[in-house]
Amino acid sequence: MTRKLKKFAVIGHPIDHSKSPTIHEAFASQFGFDISYEKLDVHPDSFGEKIHELKEDEFVGLNITLPFKNRAFEISDGVSEISRLTQSVNTISFKDNKIHGDSTDGQGLIEDLKLNKINLKGMNIMLLGAGGAARGVIFDLIKSQPNSILLHNRSVDRAKKMIDDWSFHANKENIHLALLDVEEIKQFDLVINATSAGIMGNDLPMPIHLFSSTTTYYDMTYGSETAFLKEALRVGARTLDGIGMLICQAAASFKIWHQCEPDVKKVIKLFK
Ligand code: NDP
Repeated sequence: MTRKLKKFAVIGHPIDHSKSPTIHEAFASQFGFDISYEKLDVHPDSFGEKIHELKEDEFVGLNITLPFKNRAFEISDGVSEISRLTQSVNTISFKDNKIHGDSTDGQGLIEDLKLNKINLKGMNIMLLGAGGAARGVIFDLIKSQPNSILLHNRSVDRAKKMIDDWSFHANKENIHLALLDVEEIKQFDLVINATSAGIMGNDLPMPIHLFSSTTTYYDMTYGSETAFLKEALRVGARTLDGIGMLICQAAASFKIWHQCEPDVKKVIKLFK
């Protein structure tokens, strides 16, 4: 009897840059699974229609990337707790002719930090950005029980809105969640760059006077040396880019679809 090839895809606009097919194929080969994994560039006007078309075409699952994570949340028939809270879906599973949505970005970040021996408990963290990536990880950051999370974003109103949305969860865990006061000199254990400043003209997304050699700088962007990482290296600080997070969030999607955990370290090595 021939085994049926399981079909997957990543959907975005644009999508050329995506490394998801390579990552999922590397995971599948660890278990000898036969899968196909395509990149699909979908025009924003036909997103919902395309998802239903792929469901009818017996796809098992999809990854969703920019700019569709919120749209995927809206069209899902059911979502996980984390997707409900973040209003974001990066992993779709088709089950019983229904669309189930999940979000693995936060888990990916936390797993990668753990692999790099960074324990967030009690830390003072600065989170840069208030877009999809920042919103996608803030709940998992809060759950990791740092001492404080200060937010900074180019559009201050969006950061303020994020604080309003997440204060309840931060208060519950006794975590200080507030806007960064750019005039104040503060020391952070970890600064996480969840902005796209590195790919949109390569601006510095935080005040230069807050860079310090004793802070760790984590940039969710990968594949290019951003101004953020360059400045951190210049002051002699520890730096990490987002490739590990990308692979760890993919591993969490893989587990949802295949119920097994791939060896992420092997794949991270492949990319580095
Ligand atoms: P969004 O478009 O939703 O948000 C972009 C954010 O970046 C906003 O906060 C925006 O500020 C800020 N920003 C954009 N340009 C600048 C600039 N020139 N200076 C300062 N701030 C700027 O994007 P996402 O949140 O979805 O993605 C952000 C980054 O995270 C991307 O680089 C993406 O590749 C990366 N990412 C990586 C993942 C991984 O697995 N490694 C997973 C998910 C995302 P404003 O509100 O003012 O517009």
